[in-house]
Amino acid sequence: MSIRVVVIGGGITGTLTARQLAKAGHDVTLLEAAHLGAGSSSRTAAGIRQQFSTAGTVIAMRHSVNAYRAFAAETEDGVSPIIQNGYLFLHDEASSFEQAKATVKLQQSVGLTEVVALEAADLHRQFDWVDADAIVGGTWCPTDGFLLPQVIYQEAMRHAADNGARLVNGAAVLEARFDGRSIASVRTPKGWFDADLFVDCTNAWTARLGAILGATELPVEALKRYLWFLHRDTAMPAQTLTNMPLVVAPSGAYCRPENGETLMFGKKYDVAADPDFSYDDQDTIDPNFTHTAGIEAVPYEVWMELAEKMPALAEFTGVAATTAGFYGTTPDHNPFLGFDPVVPNLIRAVGFSGHGAMMGPFNAAAVAALVAAGTDVDAVKLEEGDVPMDVFAIQRSFEHAESMVI
Ligand SMILES: Cc1cc2nc3c(=O)[nH]c(=O)nc-3n(C[C@H](O)[C@H](O)[C@H](O)COP(=O)(O)OP(=O)(O)OC[C@H]3O[C@@H](n4cnc5c(N)ncnc54)[C@H](O)[C@@H]3O)c2cc1C
Repeated sequence: MSIRVVVIGGGITGTLTARQLAKAGHDVTLLEAAHLGAGSSSRTAAGIRQQFSTAGTVIAMRHSVNAYRAFAAETEDGVSPIIQNGYLFLHDEASSFEQAKATVKLQQSVGLTEVVALEAADLHRQFDWVDADAIVGGTWCPTDGFLLPQVIYQEAMRHAADNGARLVNGAAVLEARFDGRSIASVRTPKGWFDADLFVDCTNAWTARLGAILGATELPVEALKRYLWFLHRDTAMPAQTLTNMPLVVAPSGAYCRPENGETLMFGKKYDVAADPDFSYDDQDTIDPNFTHTAGIEAVPYEVWMELAEKMPALAEFTGVAATTAGFYGTTPDHNPFLGFDPVVPNLIRAVGFSGHGAMMGPFNAAAVAALVAAGTDVDAVKLEEGDVPMDVFAIQRSFEHAESMVI
């Protein structure tokens, strides 16, 4: 049965959701406050990994990788939105490496057969830019990698439109009319929009949208995250840099090639949440996090943490740029995917922490399963396996935190 759906938010989550629902035959309108990619989706490191710590999330991420690979066949110029350079987690303590080996076994047991744990010498043979004496080993998955976010949200919306969906830019949801507890229509600067079902894909903005829609208050905090950029100069051949995987150092500092000349790097820092942020605040950089602040500032510290394990990086030219954006973070770093307990015709798909780009196709599949069922579901059934939905439930206890967060 075809229903009228309004998707709110035009990032990776909203556009992939609009695409999936339009393909399923629903009448879809996507309302975006500014323009496609105005939020975190254009400010992301866009890493994609299947190396997660629970069976369900590994299966979900296997689905995302497969879906992004299939997506390449449908993009206008055949551009693949996924670059499978792999993901390499480095360990410098025996205890954390042992734990990682156990996680690898779990990942292999649910179909991620290509992930391996490598002792330091073996790892160095494959990645000679890693200092074997600075680590005890690492885990390596060659089918992980990173994404081209703009290709995803532009092409997803094009596919959605090909299937009858409408995109309305400059359409911030400002007010709602109700029929009992259900939303009947929402007001934007572009007019009122009626629908049978509404899907919240506003991530870091969800607290504000939730208040407008009379919905459950979700603990999703907007936390600032930074990315920095280094030039290789002559420190590494262009091809070596181009082929580098996304590498996560034991400190949590991570890096990956932006292209053959430039390396992107970042690290999660605990900062105060910013509940009243404006669009411009997304790009505001705290003085201690800018590349222009000198060698005492955070980017230099993070660069050196990476260079400690990959000595060639110390020879790259200085930090050349800083970009920023918000994570929409939940207490356990898992998103909320389910019907709002207070507003019966509202689905929440928000709170992606550092995982929203990689989870995009799974999120869309999960929303499609919720729409088809008309209620919350115990598991989303995918070709890759069943993904239990309790870890994403809106009313959960947060006791099972995702342990692999960068
Ligand atoms: C520095 C950084 C690094 C990251 N690295 C990774 C990574 O390596 N891998 C990964 O998977 N993820 C990463 N992330 C996280 C990822 O980028 C996000 O989880 C993802 O982009 C969220 O997509 P989204 O579509 O849910 O939200 P967004 O892209 O933020 O989109 C939400 C949209 O909602 C719109 N909106 C808000 N309020 C309203 C309203 N009232 N009405 C209509 N529209 C509204 C906004 O304008 C916005 O366009 C990173 C994020 C940052 C900032």
